[in-house]
Amino acid sequence: MRKNVIMGNWKMHFTVEETDKFLNKLIPKVKDAKTEVVVCVPFTSLALASNTLSGSNIKLGAQNVHFEEQGAFTGEISPNMLKSVGVSHVLIGHSERRIYFGESDETVNKKIHTCLKHGFVPVLCVGESLKEKEDGDMENILTNQIKNAFLNISSEDASKVVIAYEPIWAIGTGKTATSIDADNTISFIRKVVSSIYNKEISENMIMLYGGSVKPNTIKEQMSMENIDGALVGGASIVVEDFERIVNF
Ligand code: PEP
Repeated sequence: MRKNVIMGNWKMHFTVEETDKFLNKLIPKVKDAKTEVVVCVPFTSLALASNTLSGSNIKLGAQNVHFEEQGAFTGEISPNMLKSVGVSHVLIGHSERRIYFGESDETVNKKIHTCLKHGFVPVLCVGESLKEKEDGDMENILTNQIKNAFLNISSEDASKVVIAYEPIWAIGTGKTATSIDADNTISFIRKVVSSIYNKEISENMIMLYGGSVKPNTIKEQMSMENIDGALVGGASIVVEDFERIVNF
């Protein structure tokens, strides 16, 4: 039985003060949530958020990690730095990182290895662009992203990974994939995972949909067979919206 997970990705929003204010409003509103709740806050807010969230049912996520343990990597954040502030989940390969910051399938794979070594839940983001979708390349793109991401990951470790299917054309655009399309695509992703590992791992893997998820879309999305939760961007920085999504 797969659990449901709702994750917020705050992207580059909220100072430390704003983080504290937001979380103090959110905590009581989602305290009886039936799903796992995770917020991926900016690096500068992690330490504060870790304190504010302590004793709550909200888990702490980071939006990235460097694959090396330490060293001359100006501007990067190491796995031990994340561990020291109580991070449990790490977004890996978000399309904004792939598009604007040169994240490649190779670095995604390295980061997944690093996360698993350090006991973080890697949340692997995959998805096709509008052009790739229109050219009929979606399945190829997703297959490559997934096969490369799981390179040399054992089946035991693979079962700890969460996959977020996020069509790029739906992120921040207000255009959400229909629930049926999202479900079909995630079903396809399960087939790819099954071809790398086996049916059991693929059927037990938690898979989320992301892309303009809103309070009025979540219920139908969560009713689909293959969708176990949502990765929420814009609506996760509005307390009332995120609360309604969590308590769908
Ligand atoms: C995201 O950032 O992962 C995302 C899905 O954003 P939005 O919900 O704003 O489309």
